[in-house]
Amino acid sequence: MHALFDLTGRVALVTGSSRGIGNALARGLAQAGATVVLNGVNEDRLAAAAEAMAQEFPEGRIHARAFDVTNAEAAAESVAWIEANVGPLEILINNAGIQHRVPMLDLDVKDWDRVLSTDLTSAFLVGREAARGMISRGRGKIINICSVQTDLARPTIAPYIAAKGGLRNLTRAMTAEWAASGLQINGIAPGYIHTELTQNLVDDEKFNSWILGRTPANRWGTVEDLVGPAVWLASDASKFVNGQTIFIDGGMTVVV
Ligand code: NAP
Repeated sequence: MHALFDLTGRVALVTGSSRGIGNALARGLAQAGATVVLNGVNEDRLAAAAEAMAQEFPEGRIHARAFDVTNAEAAAESVAWIEANVGPLEILINNAGIQHRVPMLDLDVKDWDRVLSTDLTSAFLVGREAARGMISRGRGKIINICSVQTDLARPTIAPYIAAKGGLRNLTRAMTAEWAASGLQINGIAPGYIHTELTQNLVDDEKFNSWILGRTPANRWGTVEDLVGPAVWLASDASKFVNGQTIFIDGGMTVVV
């Protein structure tokens, strides 16, 4: 690997990495040499994910810390635990996120709040705690996982659209306050990614052909498509990239 992309010795926390995209990103950072802290709420699922990854990377570089990213106290305690027990936190990927599909006229404010706090406020809470140490050391990388819904709306997912749009501007706000201290904060906005969770959409002929027609690259994304950009934004190769949101969507957001 080119030295610019080498993450050897860097400690990374990936929120929501017990499965899905976060798990793939955590594995990608570990492949680039990072020491990785996995996170999720479900302790059994997290332990199983950490055990599986530890088999792949048997050098003791895989750690796990269960906490709810919407809980300010838990975020502060967990970042302090990582700094004390694993090492100085240099890379944070704010990936944990949820979806809730219902037309806006039927949307309960409790569900609005739940999505906003998981998909947006969490990045502020965990980002703020991570940034304290990063600022004092004069270096750090924060990557916020956005979505094509950062830019484009669809019916029935209003809180998700509001949260993901807000996350791009939070990325800019973090940049405005922390870039001068040596931090680079950027966003990755994945398009439609073929995972276990979206297999039913891939199998739905109508939806699948809409996606293919709507995507200049004429295919679904894969979790591996996100790894290269994440390693780039976590590494020295992106030292003057500040406050950007990179769309990894096969071109979906540049065409109508
Ligand atoms: P997923 O498979 O549903 O996994 C979500 C992860 O987040 C799990 O590890 C889950 O932990 C964790 N999580 C949820 N709430 C949490 C909380 N309050 N505190 C800590 N961890 C929590 O999700 P995904 O599809 O990989 O999506 C990951 C991110 O990518 C999200 O931000 C999503 O919006 C974004 N994204 C996804 C797609 C896509 O096509 N899938 C496209 C664009 C953007 P538990 O296992 O403990 O529940």
